[in-house]
Amino acid sequence: MQKGGIAANLFSDPTDILDLILDIIPQGIVMVDGNYRTLAFNRPMFDIFRLPSDTFHVGMDFRDALRIWARHTGQDAATLERVIRELAELESFTHEFPQDVLGELRWCLLTHTPLPGGGFVRTFTDITERKRLEQELERVSRIDALTGAMTRRAFDQRLAEEIERARRFDHPLTLLMADFDHFKRINDTWGHHSGDAVLRVFVSVCQQACRVHDLMGRLGGEEFALLLPETGIDAAVVVAERLREAMEQRSIDLDTPRRRLHVTVSVGVAQLRASENANELIQRADRALYAAKAAGRNSVRCED
Ligand code: GH3
Ligand code: MG
Ligand code: MG
Repeated sequence: MQKGGIAANLFSDPTDILDLILDIIPQGIVMVDGNYRTLAFNRPMFDIFRLPSDTFHVGMDFRDALRIWARHTGQDAATLERVIRELAELESFTHEFPQDVLGELRWCLLTHTPLPGGGFVRTFTDITERKRLEQELERVSRIDALTGAMTRRAFDQRLAEEIERARRFDHPLTLLMADFDHFKRINDTWGHHSGDAVLRVFVSVCQQACRVHDLMGRLGGEEFALLLPETGIDAAVVVAERLREAMEQRSIDLDTPRRRLHVTVSVGVAQLRASENANELIQRADRALYAAKAAGRNSVRCED
């Protein structure tokens, strides 16, 4: 830690060895006494925030250092006030926060550890990369990479929320389940890659046909669910018919111009009943889908 000057011989004193070690570790560390006086800090303290190297000096009021930090990292007055208040916190805590570092959004993990006689030690770790990976993981778990529809996990979550909302406001809610007809044949005849292209076309057809509040999820391989809030069974059947017909009439271009394929879907429709849960609603829409398959495919059936 810096104590107002670098010793001529780094290894003549054990505290200099400690200084060296503390400057090498990637975390910023600062020690402050009960009167907010800065006792010690290491070089990463200003490196991590890209602060001017004269931001900190031993003996300064740490609140002044925070004011410089706030100016450089775009914190508003309310945040600065809260951060200064938290300096007096008598319990340990950790806090993750975003900040502007030279025009770039970076995340920092702060740990605050009060000292027995007053004052505290704080560490600061740059967690930008970890945050980026977390956000990427979250995105991957929610959005199907092939089609851009919601994953089953994300859809199930939204379905539960929409059921709750429909019940609270006593609004209709309807679920469509769509499954491609003879999709194995598509894969067998045209190859898996072409099958994938069909799935992407279907999702874009649905997105064009749906309203912004409608939700689309890929529940399994070539099985999709469409949730229509504020929609009763009759209107939902109209939507299902529109989708079925759009796919029937669509000729899907493959890689070469001579290769165009036609593929159809079967759709089951069920409207949420009073006191029904998500699984029961899915099961009934599935039963309707099965009936549409049994009726010869390329058709829509509903459960009342
Ligand atoms: P049915 O009309 O009875 O639904 O017949 P089907 O051949 O479509 O039967 P089923 O729905 O059981 O078969 C689904 C097939 O979809 C099996 C699998 O090879 C294929 N499939 C599942 N996921 C994918 C995918 O991501 N890409 C492609 N290309 N095919 C997939
Ligand atoms: Mg199928
Ligand atoms: Mg299937």
